Amino acid sequence: MLSDNREALVRVKSFSPDKIRELVSCAYLYGKPGTLGSLLNRPYRAVLGALYNADTDGELSRLGEMNPHGIVAGLSAAAALCGAGESVLVLPSGNGFTQLRSAAEKAGITVADEDFIDCRAHADDLLLHWAALAAVADLIIGEPQRIITSVNSRLTEVMPGEPVGSVMAPGDVKAVRIGASYYTPSVMSEPARAELFAAGGVIKTYGSDCCIVQAAYEQIMRLRKRCCGKCLMCREGLFQFGEILREITKASSNPAEPALAKEIGEALAPAAHCSVGEAAAECMLTVLENFSSELDSHIKKKVCPAAQCAAFSAVYIDPMKCCGCGDCIAVCPEDCIEGKPGYISMIDDVVCTKCGKCAEVCPEGAVVRTQSRIPRLPDRLTKAGRFRR
Ligand code: SF4
Ligand code: SF4
Ligand code: SF4
Repeated sequence: MLSDNREALVRVKSFSPDKIRELVSCAYLYGKPGTLGSLLNRPYRAVLGALYNADTDGELSRLGEMNPHGIVAGLSAAAALCGAGESVLVLPSGNGFTQLRSAAEKAGITVADEDFIDCRAHADDLLLHWAALAAVADLIIGEPQRIITSVNSRLTEVMPGEPVGSVMAPGDVKAVRIGASYYTPSVMSEPARAELFAAGGVIKTYGSDCCIVQAAYEQIMRLRKRCCGKCLMCREGLFQFGEILREITKASSNPAEPALAKEIGEALAPAAHCSVGEAAAECMLTVLENFSSELDSHIKKKVCPAAQCAAFSAVYIDPMKCCGCGDCIAVCPEDCIEGKPGYISMIDDVVCTKCGKCAEVCPEGAVVRTQSRIPRLPDRLTKAGRFRR
């Protein structure tokens, strides 16, 4: 799938629709259950080859550079199978894809430049992901089906049935995001299947220093940027998810919010008209299901287990380490560090926003972020090296 499959394009032109059906009916779909054959029980106006709206990572778009003829072959085969009057290749605007565009035009495929697929306008069309088309092309030349994915920005393939973790490097993994869904590391021992790689198919891993609530908030914000706003449930649901997650990270949530988020997620998935709403619901529901203890810790214990949420932490200067260089004073955007050359700096905790800029510049590693009790600190300016606990 990751190299240009010109052979498939040659073969698809010479095969009859029956032969194509025999070869590719079992092709995996991305973001949908079932196989290509299961979708052919109704007529379609056109077949569309596109990236999904919810693909916020954009990494699978590289397939368009790596395997342009495979994508075109897959699209031609799908169009021949369902007898659609038109086949359309949708390219994200402004990204080139010169070879893909030219291969499609040579094959008589209409090329459309669109960043967002209006799924209502295309209700009578068959929408297939580029990755599904490349998988179809593999079947045409007798290659086994593989599932394409991107692991921490590296495009790769996994054989169906192989453990998901077989394409991942070992390391400190606290959570695995596949598409927009968040899983515990146990997903790495699950057999790979196409539905797991819905809406983008991208795998990202998060280590123990990552706050999953913050990660989910950022994912919801990326999806909000892709939301067209035409479905009330998606528009409002994304807004509510963002607010709920933000409040949890700011220590201002209440214990009823996870239940509200679950209710919204369950209503949003079936009401959404495209993958954006579905992915948002998946994101929220998988975080609620798989990371409930991390949410509880934020909401009930007021502790961020990864010590990343500023609202739950305090920042102080370790008087035993500070040399009084003053670098932190120069960068503090709140002007809330008191000190002078050679004296231990002190942070005004009431004004400090815990932005961490002082820690970034401190040459002594004296700035400490903690969720534990703060030790005794100087109560007046004290010469560096003179403080005694
Ligand atoms: S689900 Fe969201 S992004 Fe998709 S059509 Fe509806 S409002 Fe637009
Ligand atoms: S964390 Fe930010 S606001 Fe607080 S003292 Fe450091 S630089 Fe200033
Ligand atoms: S940058 Fe570090 S060592 Fe320098 S004054 Fe600030 S806390 Fe002390």
